[in-house]
Amino acid sequence: MQKIIKEIKYYNCGYCTNNLKLVFKKHKREIKVFPAGVFLVKHPKEGYVLFDTGYSTEIYNLGLKGKLYNLFNPTYVKKEDQINIQLEKDGIKCSEIKYLVLTHLHPDHIGCVKYFKNAKILVSEEAFNTYKKNKIRYLIFDKLLPEWFEEKITIIEDKQLEENKNKYFSYYDLFGDKSLLLTKVNGHAKGQICSLIQDKVFLGADSSWGNSFVGKANDFKFFPRLIQSDMSDYIANDKLLKRMKKDGIKLCFSHDTYEDEVIKL
Ligand SMILES: [Zn+2]
Repeated sequence: MQKIIKEIKYYNCGYCTNNLKLVFKKHKREIKVFPAGVFLVKHPKEGYVLFDTGYSTEIYNLGLKGKLYNLFNPTYVKKEDQINIQLEKDGIKCSEIKYLVLTHLHPDHIGCVKYFKNAKILVSEEAFNTYKKNKIRYLIFDKLLPEWFEEKITIIEDKQLEENKNKYFSYYDLFGDKSLLLTKVNGHAKGQICSLIQDKVFLGADSSWGNSFVGKANDFKFFPRLIQSDMSDYIANDKLLKRMKKDGIKLCFSHDTYEDEVIKL
């Protein structure tokens, strides 16, 4: 397939830590760092597309909800970790981001949405409906979102996400050139958007905790099961991820660690 997008840049925008003993059955105590990853793609005609916005220091200003989140999910973020600052350092103004894909609305993905008022902000229909219905149950801290959020977003409807089908899933071809296919991967969060880029790289958001956890969804303990929106979907999609990995597609999850900041296509 034609190489329209040449590379994906990864940004580590704060992190949280978890003890794997509390997550997986029969796992020994191991405190693991889970970075909040943001991915940037430059499309030659459409411009910059950003996937998620990582944490912001606002996570410490959310009152009781934030304190509880921090208790179960110790979070570390400094001003310079924020995506707006990191883009600036790379000579990219936030106003140059043309599209912002919010994979889902958890705090480690929406921290810096407020800096991207100029972008077309894409949210799935199901993620938006969930946000409107029950923010607390689905871990959505709307205080992190700017007041203009609802007026500015573009909803990707379910029927758009089902327009085409490949051997893995139904998808929406964002630019109509097959470079960036958006699909819905339920399980972790309702209406979570993942993307397949030129049949080579799959931006898997939180469909798995990381490459080393693909195929291990059945080993989750009770508490991590509880924070997924639908465990049976999660397990079904874990199988899909395993299949894609076997086929040589590079899986890039939001909370993996990357040795290189640039992923070549
Ligand atoms: Zn999440």
